[in-house]
Amino acid sequence: MQHRRLEGRIVVATHNEGKLREMRELLAPYGITAVSAGELDLAEPEETGTTFAENAEIKARAAAQVSGLPAFADDSGICVEGLGGAPGIYSARWAQNKEFGAAMARIDAELREHGFLAPDERRGHFISALAVVWPDGHLESFEGRIDGTLVWPPRGDAGFGYDPMFLPQGHERTFGEMSSQEKHGIPPDGSRALSHRARAFQLLAAACLGAMSPE
Ligand code: IMP
Repeated sequence: MQHRRLEGRIVVATHNEGKLREMRELLAPYGITAVSAGELDLAEPEETGTTFAENAEIKARAAAQVSGLPAFADDSGICVEGLGGAPGIYSARWAQNKEFGAAMARIDAELREHGFLAPDERRGHFISALAVVWPDGHLESFEGRIDGTLVWPPRGDAGFGYDPMFLPQGHERTFGEMSSQEKHGIPPDGSRALSHRARAFQLLAAACLGAMSPE
């Protein structure tokens, strides 16, 4: 499949400062400058999709249409196998007022209700969907995934969200106990990308930034 190259100035379709910083860091080595949907005062569209990929596309499409620039958006979350994939696309909503302590406790409580105590019964994965939409409607879409188990109690205070209860497969420390460099691997080279977001970005970089090497 023919991919389209991403270059120049783009909009990062997020109003979240943390995500904006992370995305700018990922894109900067490729000579791409990112303005945010917040800085352009773009409205936040309703996330009505049923998958991470659909929600990422909705956000990117809305920003590209209004700004006239290519737009980059992500949607992510955690899926717990023993809970039928919940919280999934509702990961942010499970944390009312950004209370992730309560959201993590809810995951643990629901697993316990099912009697799921062994690591094997507490498998889960993070997903990151990335979408780039150009003003002419062209879409490029990528997904990264990292598998692991949900531990209790949570461990570590690095990272954000559900990081302290997520133990990536083959590792002894949770995302909450890892530095950001360790959690993500080392993109943009990305040869050791670990997190779902780094893995998705690695795919995007190969497809849409491929011919350009980081400075
Ligand atoms: P979004 O802003 O709709 O993509 O929401 C993503 C939700 O999933 C937020 O609640 C995050 O806390 C959670 N999430 C996504 N990626 C990560 C991660 O890398 N670590 C911890 N939580 C994450």
